[in-house]
Amino acid sequence: MAAETAPYGRVTQHPSAVPEVHILWITAGLGCDGDSVSITAATQPSIEDVLLGAIPGLPKVHLHNPVLAYECGDDFLKYWYMAEEGQLEPFVLVVEGSIPNEKIKKEGYWAALGTDPTTNQPITTNEWIDRLAPKATAVIACGTCATYGGIHAMEGNPTGCMGLADYLGWNWSSKAGLPIVNVPGCPV
Ligand code: SF4
Repeated sequence: MAAETAPYGRVTQHPSAVPEVHILWITAGLGCDGDSVSITAATQPSIEDVLLGAIPGLPKVHLHNPVLAYECGDDFLKYWYMAEEGQLEPFVLVVEGSIPNEKIKKEGYWAALGTDPTTNQPITTNEWIDRLAPKATAVIACGTCATYGGIHAMEGNPTGCMGLADYLGWNWSSKAGLPIVNVPGCPV
Protein backbone atom coordinates (compact mmCIF):
# COMPACT_ATOMS: atom_id res chain seq x y z
CA MET A 1 0.00 0.00 0.00
CA ALA A 2 1.66 3.22 -1.07
CA ALA A 3 0.49 6.76 -1.51
CA GLU A 4 1.69 9.39 -3.96
CA THR A 5 1.37 13.16 -3.96
CA ALA A 6 -0.81 14.65 -6.65
CA PRO A 7 -0.68 18.30 -7.84
CA TYR A 8 -1.50 20.91 -5.16
CA GLY A 9 -0.45 18.55 -2.37
CA ARG A 10 -3.47 16.26 -2.62
CA VAL A 11 -2.52 12.70 -1.64
CA THR A 12 -3.96 9.92 -3.73
CA GLN A 13 -3.96 6.24 -2.98
CA HIS A 14 -2.58 3.67 -5.34
CA PRO A 15 -5.29 1.18 -6.24
CA SER A 16 -4.69 -2.35 -5.03
CA ALA A 17 -3.00 -4.73 -7.44
CA VAL A 18 -6.20 -6.78 -7.70
CA PRO A 19 -9.73 -5.45 -7.16
CA GLU A 20 -10.98 -8.45 -5.17
CA VAL A 21 -9.57 -11.42 -3.30
CA HIS A 22 -11.32 -14.44 -1.82
CA ILE A 23 -10.21 -16.10 1.41
CA LEU A 24 -11.16 -19.77 1.66
CA TRP A 25 -10.63 -20.58 5.33
CA ILE A 26 -10.93 -24.27 6.15
CA THR A 27 -11.55 -25.04 9.83
CA ALA A 28 -11.86 -28.77 9.20
CA GLY A 29 -8.41 -29.56 10.52
CA LEU A 30 -8.16 -31.03 14.00
CA GLY A 31 -8.59 -28.02 16.24
CA CYS A 32 -11.07 -26.01 18.23
CA ASP A 33 -12.03 -23.17 15.82
CA GLY A 34 -10.34 -20.84 18.30
CA ASP A 35 -8.35 -19.10 15.58
CA SER A 36 -11.52 -18.17 13.71
CA VAL A 37 -13.04 -16.89 16.94
CA SER A 38 -9.89 -14.94 17.82
CA ILE A 39 -9.93 -12.89 14.63
CA THR A 40 -13.30 -11.48 15.65
CA ALA A 41 -11.43 -9.77 18.51
CA ALA A 42 -8.81 -8.18 16.24
CA THR A 43 -8.75 -4.38 16.35
CA GLN A 44 -5.89 -3.09 14.19
CA PRO A 45 -7.55 -3.61 11.83
CA SER A 46 -10.81 -5.25 12.82
CA ILE A 47 -12.30 -7.90 10.59
CA GLU A 48 -15.23 -5.56 10.00
CA ASP A 49 -12.86 -2.86 8.70
CA VAL A 50 -11.24 -5.33 6.32
CA LEU A 51 -14.46 -6.82 4.99
CA LEU A 52 -16.31 -3.52 4.67
CA GLY A 53 -13.48 -1.89 2.71
CA ALA A 54 -12.45 0.66 5.31
CA ILE A 55 -8.72 0.07 4.80
CA PRO A 56 -7.36 2.13 1.88
CA GLY A 57 -5.38 0.19 -0.67
CA LEU A 58 -6.75 -3.24 0.18
CA PRO A 59 -8.72 -5.17 -2.42
CA LYS A 60 -12.31 -6.08 -1.69
CA VAL A 61 -12.00 -9.08 0.63
CA HIS A 62 -14.50 -11.93 0.52
CA LEU A 63 -14.15 -14.21 3.54
CA HIS A 64 -15.46 -17.78 3.36
CA ASN A 65 -15.10 -19.26 6.83
CA PRO A 66 -17.64 -21.81 8.12
CA VAL A 67 -17.55 -20.42 11.66
CA LEU A 68 -18.26 -16.85 10.55
CA ALA A 69 -20.23 -17.23 7.30
CA TYR A 70 -23.87 -16.29 6.87
CA GLU A 71 -24.24 -18.96 4.18
CA CYS A 72 -24.44 -22.64 4.93
CA GLY A 73 -24.69 -25.89 2.96
CA ASP A 74 -24.52 -25.57 -0.82
CA ASP A 75 -24.58 -21.76 -0.65
CA PHE A 76 -21.36 -21.86 1.35
CA LEU A 77 -19.63 -24.66 -0.52
CA LYS A 78 -20.18 -23.23 -4.00
CA TYR A 79 -17.13 -21.01 -3.53
CA TRP A 80 -14.97 -24.04 -2.78
CA TYR A 81 -16.08 -25.74 -5.96
CA MET A 82 -15.56 -22.53 -7.93
CA ALA A 83 -12.00 -22.31 -6.59
CA GLU A 84 -11.36 -25.91 -7.55
CA GLU A 85 -12.58 -25.18 -11.07
CA GLY A 86 -10.42 -22.07 -11.41
CA GLN A 87 -13.38 -19.66 -11.28
CA LEU A 88 -12.32 -17.89 -8.07
CA GLU A 89 -9.21 -15.95 -8.90
CA PRO A 90 -7.26 -14.96 -6.92
CA PHE A 91 -7.87 -16.78 -3.67
CA VAL A 92 -5.91 -17.46 -0.51
CA LEU A 93 -6.32 -20.78 1.29
CA VAL A 94 -6.20 -20.59 5.08
CA VAL A 95 -5.96 -23.87 6.99
CA GLU A 96 -6.91 -24.02 10.67
CA GLY A 97 -6.29 -27.15 12.75
CA SER A 98 -3.81 -29.94 12.20
CA ILE A 99 -3.99 -32.15 9.14
CA PRO A 100 -5.29 -35.66 9.82
CA ASN A 101 -3.37 -37.54 7.18
CA GLU A 102 -5.56 -40.38 5.95
CA LYS A 103 -2.80 -41.37 3.55
CA ILE A 104 -0.83 -42.87 6.43
CA LYS A 105 -3.82 -43.98 8.52
CA LYS A 106 -6.12 -46.28 6.63
CA GLU A 107 -8.54 -46.89 9.50
CA GLY A 108 -10.93 -44.23 8.29
CA TYR A 109 -11.29 -40.51 7.82
CA TRP A 110 -11.01 -38.02 10.65
CA ALA A 111 -12.16 -34.68 9.32
CA ALA A 112 -14.16 -33.49 6.34
CA LEU A 113 -16.04 -30.55 4.87
CA GLY A 114 -19.15 -31.09 2.76
CA THR A 115 -20.37 -34.10 0.80
CA ASP A 116 -19.25 -35.08 -2.67
CA PRO A 117 -22.42 -34.91 -4.81
CA THR A 118 -21.19 -37.67 -7.10
CA THR A 119 -20.40 -40.23 -4.37
CA ASN A 120 -22.41 -38.93 -1.39
CA GLN A 121 -19.24 -39.42 0.62
CA PRO A 122 -17.66 -36.74 2.85
CA ILE A 123 -14.93 -34.68 1.23
CA THR A 124 -12.00 -35.10 3.58
CA THR A 125 -9.79 -32.28 4.74
CA ASN A 126 -6.88 -33.96 2.92
CA GLU A 127 -8.85 -33.95 -0.28
CA TRP A 128 -9.72 -30.26 -0.04
CA ILE A 129 -6.08 -29.36 0.58
CA ASP A 130 -4.99 -31.54 -2.34
CA ARG A 131 -7.60 -29.91 -4.60
CA LEU A 132 -7.10 -26.30 -3.60
CA ALA A 133 -3.48 -25.77 -2.56
CA PRO A 134 -2.16 -25.99 -6.15
CA LYS A 135 -4.66 -23.34 -7.26
CA ALA A 136 -4.23 -20.89 -4.38
CA THR A 137 -2.15 -17.75 -4.79
CA ALA A 138 -1.02 -18.20 -1.18
CA VAL A 139 -1.56 -20.77 1.54
CA ILE A 140 -1.59 -19.84 5.22
CA ALA A 141 -1.31 -22.22 8.17
CA CYS A 142 -3.26 -20.44 10.91
CA GLY A 143 -2.48 -21.34 14.52
CA THR A 144 -0.12 -23.78 16.18
CA CYS A 145 -2.16 -26.85 15.22
CA ALA A 146 -1.97 -25.99 11.52
CA THR A 147 1.67 -24.93 11.60
CA TYR A 148 3.26 -27.68 13.71
CA GLY A 149 0.44 -30.12 14.44
CA GLY A 150 -0.33 -28.97 17.96
CA ILE A 151 -1.25 -31.32 20.75
CA HIS A 152 -3.05 -33.69 18.39
CA ALA A 153 0.21 -34.54 16.65
CA MET A 154 1.86 -35.99 19.72
CA GLU A 155 3.61 -39.37 19.46
CA GLY A 156 1.14 -42.23 19.08
CA ASN A 157 -1.79 -40.13 17.89
CA PRO A 158 -4.28 -42.33 16.00
CA THR A 159 -5.04 -39.79 13.27
CA GLY A 160 -1.60 -39.37 11.72
CA CYS A 161 -2.15 -35.64 12.05
CA MET A 162 0.59 -33.14 11.35
CA GLY A 163 1.18 -29.52 10.49
CA LEU A 164 0.42 -28.26 6.99
CA ALA A 165 4.08 -27.93 6.02
CA ASP A 166 4.72 -31.52 7.08
CA TYR A 167 1.78 -32.54 4.88
CA LEU A 168 2.61 -30.45 1.78
CA GLY A 169 6.37 -30.42 2.29
CA TRP A 170 8.52 -27.69 3.80
CA ASN A 171 9.78 -26.70 0.35
CA TRP A 172 6.28 -26.41 -1.07
CA SER A 173 5.44 -23.12 -2.75
CA SER A 174 2.25 -21.71 -4.21
CA LYS A 175 1.69 -21.02 -7.89
CA ALA A 176 2.77 -17.45 -7.10
CA GLY A 177 6.06 -18.79 -5.72
CA LEU A 178 5.19 -18.13 -2.09
CA PRO A 179 6.12 -20.58 0.66
CA ILE A 180 3.48 -21.64 3.16
CA VAL A 181 2.87 -18.70 5.49
CA ASN A 182 3.10 -20.22 8.97
CA VAL A 183 1.43 -18.18 11.70
CA PRO A 184 1.64 -20.09 15.00
CA GLY A 185 -0.17 -19.12 18.17
CA CYS A 186 -2.92 -20.65 20.21
CA PRO A 187 -5.03 -18.92 19.17
CA VAL A 188 -3.29 -17.07 16.41
S1 SF4 B 1 -3.88 -23.56 17.56
FE1 SF4 B 1 -5.09 -23.41 19.49
S2 SF4 B 1 -6.81 -22.09 18.94
FE2 SF4 B 1 -5.96 -22.88 17.01
S3 SF4 B 1 -7.15 -24.72 16.53
FE3 SF4 B 1 -5.30 -25.36 17.68
S4 SF4 B 1 -6.00 -25.47 19.84
FE4 SF4 B 1 -7.52 -24.22 18.71
